Amino acid sequence: MRLRHLKPDENGMVRIVSSRKSKVRFENLITYEKALIHVKEGSALVKNRNTIIKLHSQKQMRELVFERDKYKCHYCGKQGLTLDHMTPRSKGGCSTPKNLVCCCYECNQKKGSLSYKEFIRIIRKEVKTIES
Ligand SMILES: [Zn+2]
Repeated sequence: MRLRHLKPDENGMVRIVSSRKSKVRFENLITYEKALIHVKEGSALVKNRNTIIKLHSQKQMRELVFERDKYKCHYCGKQGLTLDHMTPRSKGGCSTPKNLVCCCYECNQKKGSLSYKEFIRIIRKEVKTIES
């Protein structure tokens, strides 16, 4: 099944289910827009016209991102043990490998619900202030 086959229900929703291999079973409804992001960003596959399969459990997703980023904070380079949604969930970001980065506790707190661009701008300003 391809992405173009995916159709939202009458409420604009799509079913997201755990993969058969996953030990933790779940089923949820998400918006069609979020479903598209999940498939495009490689964290889900289209199962049928109104269902997508989530490829990673939350735990697998954490491990995947931490290993990819070598446990280093994306923003400051220190050891990071939290995950940051580059596009915050409150702004439509999803928990996909593309939208998640390893982040230290301090940066995660500072970033809060700022967008990626806003936060980078603030960090750059701070670096400049220290240098001058
Ligand atoms: Zn950091």
